[in-house]
Parts: sequence; structure tokens; C-alpha cells
Amino acid sequence: MNIRAEILENATATLAPDSNGYFGEYGGPIDDPRVAPLLAEIGAAFDLAMADETFQAGLMHLRKHYVGRPSPIYPTTNLSPAGGARIYLKREDLNHTGAHKINHCLGEVMLAKRMGKKRVLAETGAGQHGVALATACALLDMECEIHMGVVDIAKEHPNVSRMKILGCDLVPVSMGTGTLKDAVDSAFISYMKDPENTFFAIGSVTGPAPYPRMVQAFQSVIGQEARQQFVELTGGMPTEVVACVGGGSNAIGLFSGFLDEPGVTLVGVEPAGKGLDTDKHAATLTLGKPGVMHGFRCYYLQGEDGEPAPVHSVASGLDYPGVGPQHCHLKDTGRARYESATDAEAFAAFMTLSRSEGIIPALESAHAVAYAIRRAPKMRPDQSILVNLSGRGDKDIDFVISELGL
Ligand SMILES: *Cc1c(COP(=O)(O)O)cnc(C)c1O
Repeated sequence: MNIRAEILENATATLAPDSNGYFGEYGGPIDDPRVAPLLAEIGAAFDLAMADETFQAGLMHLRKHYVGRPSPIYPTTNLSPAGGARIYLKREDLNHTGAHKINHCLGEVMLAKRMGKKRVLAETGAGQHGVALATACALLDMECEIHMGVVDIAKEHPNVSRMKILGCDLVPVSMGTGTLKDAVDSAFISYMKDPENTFFAIGSVTGPAPYPRMVQAFQSVIGQEARQQFVELTGGMPTEVVACVGGGSNAIGLFSGFLDEPGVTLVGVEPAGKGLDTDKHAATLTLGKPGVMHGFRCYYLQGEDGEPAPVHSVASGLDYPGVGPQHCHLKDTGRARYESATDAEAFAAFMTLSRSEGIIPALESAHAVAYAIRRAPKMRPDQSILVNLSGRGDKDIDFVISELGL
């Protein structure tokens, strides 16, 4: 076997973590004796649920009749450059609640209910995770408690209103800087008050085991559908599959469908913010270093003291200093490639997609679109790029109007 083939086989084989939750060198179990048994219980319950036909049938029913899956693949007409690669979009923006997050929130809340938990708890930054979780909790009749910094509450009005209407208990967090990292601490304190009855729902493929593999499993529906749809539509495989990377859940969901196709290039697009040569970005895999952050080992952007560095992206969903362990492993093995797009490129792609195809993307997804716009003209017309359109842009329209002075 040549080296490249061996690396590929290795990457595919090990995208399931080892029994301690490591993907290669990344991920791993929590190092806190108070929490370790709780997470072991979740991991065991998750394995039982996934092997249970009733659980699977319930999940499939909701995906089809509630979320609106399968989401289509759309071959763009005007966005694809003449003489270059054809650009296809996997339309996760058409899901109920407008993004891919509902895929794992439904799974996590179904699991919580099956475990006999009474309450689902999480923190949220911009409120996207909070809204998807509050939606799943309303549907499945679970109590929902969301911790959110007061600064974020003031900034994210529509999402705050949605969460209130959906009936979740929104806890404003004013300690520290009143932003996401304080909300994380506050949610954790609340969790430890009643872990017996509470399920902590993480919003990406991040955190300690079993969350990365669990959220990956719930998101892998994107890649499974996309692979089948792409073959039906074109008779072959895409040349490149592309997704934006914040924590990495929508990207790993799409990649899952193509890992065992060595001819398909996997590309994750990170936020380069105001530029990779500034300190205002969140390009974790491009410029970060490995270490332990938030209870798991990953690449993360570090300050001089090794603490997670402050990060910036115009897309709040990408604004995270670390990244899921699967992506760290895929980077090291060379199975996936990680590129970046700046705030300015994301704004431009947001407008280009809106005006060429009549599809307003989330600013997060616009990073993946920006890469495709840059890349497609350099490829051949018989080649193709499949972009995961992770969400729709309704939440971003006022911000874009004011930023671009429209
Ligand atoms: C939250 C979010 C993301 C980033 O999260 P990942 O875990 O990296 O997928 C991307 N797109 C949208 C629309 C989001 O809401």
C-alpha cells in the first residue's frame, strides 16, 4: 500500500474514537471526577439508543416530518463560473429553524428523554444553539434552561424572543464579561446542582467524550443524504466537498458521507476575520496549537499563557477558539484540508449568492461559499464542488445592511 492510501485508510478507520474518546491524539475523556461518571452514563445510553430500532425510527420520523429532510442538493446555475467547476449546495438552510443545528438538538433531546432526564441545559452565544434546543424541547415536552451572557442578550434580540416564545427558561449571565465563556461557567454550575435530572447539551462536535462522536453521529445524516443525492444527480462523486468550520459539526456531518472515497477532497473553511496576520480571526486549525481546552484535546488559538485567546469572526457561530477533535485528526493525517475566508470575503459571498441564485445564506455558511467562488474558476468544467449551506441568513440581514451601508 502506498503511503497516501495508508494514511487515508487510517483516517477513515479511526474517525470513530478509541474507547477513551480519542480521535488520534485529540478529544479524550473529561478529567474531573465529579463529571466523569455522568458523561460515561451519557455515552452508554447513547450507544444503547443508537442500537435500538425504536429510537432510530423515532429519529427518522422527526427528520422527515418535522425537520423536512432530506434537504435537497441544488446545482447552482448562475453562481458556477463558465469554464470552471460546477458548484452544488446542500440545502441545510431549508431545515426547520433554518440551520443544521436542529439535527443534533433533536437527537440530544430525544436521548435525554430516553434517559429519564427532566431538564435540558446549555449555554448559547449568539442564540442559534439555544433556539434549536428550545425548539426540540418544546416538541418533546422537556424543560429547557439556556444560559446566555447579558451582552449577547442585548445583541441577539430575535433569537432571545424566539427562545422566550418557545418556553425555555433563559438565564441572563452578568458575571465576568457577560458573554459566551461566562455563560459556559454559569451553565456548568447549574448542571452540577442537579446532574441526576439534567442533560447538558453541547452544540457542536466539541467538549469531552462522548459529545464529539455523539453530535457527529446525529449530523452524519447530512453526508449520507448528500452522497446518495449527488450520485443520483450526476452519476459520480463531487471533486471537493466544502463546509465552514466553527466547532466543526456541520463540516463533519458532510464529510462523514465521503470519508471512504479517497478521490473526494474534504475542505473545511475557517474564519480568517480581519486577516490571518491580525489577532482578529478564529482560524483554529490554520494557526492554533494542540493542547487541552474546555475538557478535551484539540488545536486551539492560544494566548502567551496557553489560555484560549480572544477570537473574532463576523459570523458569531464560527467564533470559537477550539475545534472538534475529528478535524484535528483529519488535518494531521492529511485526509482533510483547512482553508480560510475573511469577514470581507464572507460579506461578498453573502451578497453574490443572494443576488445570483436568490438564496440568502447565513454568514457562517458564506465562508464556505466564498471558498467555492475563489476555487471553482481554477478547476475544470467536468469537476464539481459540493458546499454545505449550513444555514439561512435571516438572522444576519439587519447586520449586513448596516455593515455594507445598503
Ligand atoms: C452554529 C453554526 C455554524 C458553526 O457550527 P459548526 O459546529 O462548526 O457547524 C455554522 N453555520 C451555522 C448556520 C450555524 O448556526
